[in-house]
Amino acid sequence: MAIKDNVNKLLKEVGERAILEAAAKTREAREIDEAIESGIRVIGENYVSELKKIYPLVKNKAEWHFIGSTKTQKHDLLKKKVLEIVDMIETVDSVDFAFELNKRCRGLSKVMPVLIEVNSAKEVQKSGVYPEDVVDLVKKIAKLSRVKVVGLMTMGPNVDNPEETRPYFRLTKKLFDDIKGMKIENVEMEYLSMGMSDTYRIALEEGANIVRIGTTIFGPRRQR
Ligand SMILES: *Cc1c(COP(=O)(O)O)cnc(C)c1O
Repeated sequence: MAIKDNVNKLLKEVGERAILEAAAKTREAREIDEAIESGIRVIGENYVSELKKIYPLVKNKAEWHFIGSTKTQKHDLLKKKVLEIVDMIETVDSVDFAFELNKRCRGLSKVMPVLIEVNSAKEVQKSGVYPEDVVDLVKKIAKLSRVKVVGLMTMGPNVDNPEETRPYFRLTKKLFDDIKGMKIENVEMEYLSMGMSDTYRIALEEGANIVRIGTTIFGPRRQR
């Protein structure tokens, strides 16, 4: 099916419940443009190298979110030119990164909205902070004037049956609500980013208001 048809179908299904973010790794500019022309407002990029290459080639306006590793790509991501085009970083998982980001954004007179990435299934190989460490990290980042926590993001574990992700989405939603209830100054719990092509229906049921979808919009992923 064409990208346009896929987007239309998803937009109809997701409705007002959530923002449909197009996860665009390995996709070409014309594919991203087709998605935006069909109603996508947010593009998610995993790799700084791809973002830098593709951003000038995409003709339509959109919001650009970074959804890749802030550990392995820290150096490239914190470049002035990159921070200028990124509208949100969804994968903040350390106070070190947040401090460095704060410093760089001061020079840009920009406040960067961020989500805290939660390693909800506590998988050793995955990025993100463990659930029990999230509140502490949020409180530390709240003290920074150029970085603003606006919610949480989680990948959930890779499982055969999508239904097995439900407890991890539920746990992340509970954490989201708990932190919201704390009314921490300079923290606005607005976005909960969870769910991908095979799990977005479950994530929506569990309260996601951003779903990040690649394959169901663009088709099978290409090799990088
Ligand atoms: C690739 C990716 C997605 C989308 O995955 P699909 O299964 O292709 O829908 C969502 N979030 C992140 C962080 C990704 O890297």
